[in-house]
Amino acid sequence: MSLLVTGTVAFDAIETPFGKTDKIIGGAATYVSLAASYFTGSVGLIAVVGDDFPQTYIDFLKSRGIDTSGLQVKEGEKSFFWSGRYFNDMNSRETLITELNVLADFDPIVPSGLDAPDYLMLGNLAPKVQSTLISRLSKRPKLIAMDTMNFWMDVAMDDLKETLKMVDVLTINDEEARQLSGEYSLIKASRKIREMGPKYLIIKKGEHGALLFYNDKVFFAPAMLLEDVFDPTGAGDTFAGGFIGWLAKTDDISFENMKRAIIYGSALASFCVEKFGTDNIVNIDENLLQERVAAFKELSYVEMLP
Ligand code: AMP
Repeated sequence: MSLLVTGTVAFDAIETPFGKTDKIIGGAATYVSLAASYFTGSVGLIAVVGDDFPQTYIDFLKSRGIDTSGLQVKEGEKSFFWSGRYFNDMNSRETLITELNVLADFDPIVPSGLDAPDYLMLGNLAPKVQSTLISRLSKRPKLIAMDTMNFWMDVAMDDLKETLKMVDVLTINDEEARQLSGEYSLIKASRKIREMGPKYLIIKKGEHGALLFYNDKVFFAPAMLLEDVFDPTGAGDTFAGGFIGWLAKTDDISFENMKRAIIYGSALASFCVEKFGTDNIVNIDENLLQERVAAFKELSYVEMLP
């Protein structure tokens, strides 16, 4: 099934307790589309970059089967730039710089070949742009998932609430769920957020796994235990790309299949954090991925005695 992805395609500069990078390639849509490309050959990308963004990387995205006809390159302008620093536990970070640059007046134009996707992943981006993109599709996708972050809650809460009314699944981290709902308890937060629009809510808890809420059901998936975590940047987006990519591949949006999608998303995210930026997700070996999915199953499987 076809999948359309939007979000930032960007430069990031990252500081973790293990090192520091200059400007490297990042952006929510970069991670989402790369991750999804492991499951479906039909990924379209709607995003914007400046003429400082390397054509070689756009060519690389194409080589992963990603349709970049909706990626606008603005002459004479600079790409979105984000810089962040992680604290010692790597579970929390602070944003040092957000330069919107080319994103400030991004108009998401959808090429005609991409305007009727079966699945839509609205990666982290201005909520107004996310809703504009939905309104430009020729039919409503079977499932619309959305990611956002505290930055947009701070600067565009009203737009965010409008966009939330239009989506089926929201993925955010625990801190953002608390900010959005004003509730500390994640159960109460999940109820309040689902009253805002999305029927499904995924709360990402970094190295402590992820929770899926739907009606009165909750599913919890742990995160993979890893020897080395170098850089959590993009883990949430890689998770989201794996999640929606699996749903698009299987074309099954039952709760049971969403649980599988969460495991695939978590497995891909576990690769992401082992190196800086996108380095470890550009070429994941299929056998390694399956091994990690099996390890996930093993991690919390227990056969109870009658
Ligand atoms: P994650 O670690 O999954 O939350 O995503 C990190 C990615 O999000 C980085 O590659 C950034 O370029 C991108 N990013 C950071 N801030 C924003 C923002 N305000 N809007 C959209 N994307 C952002």
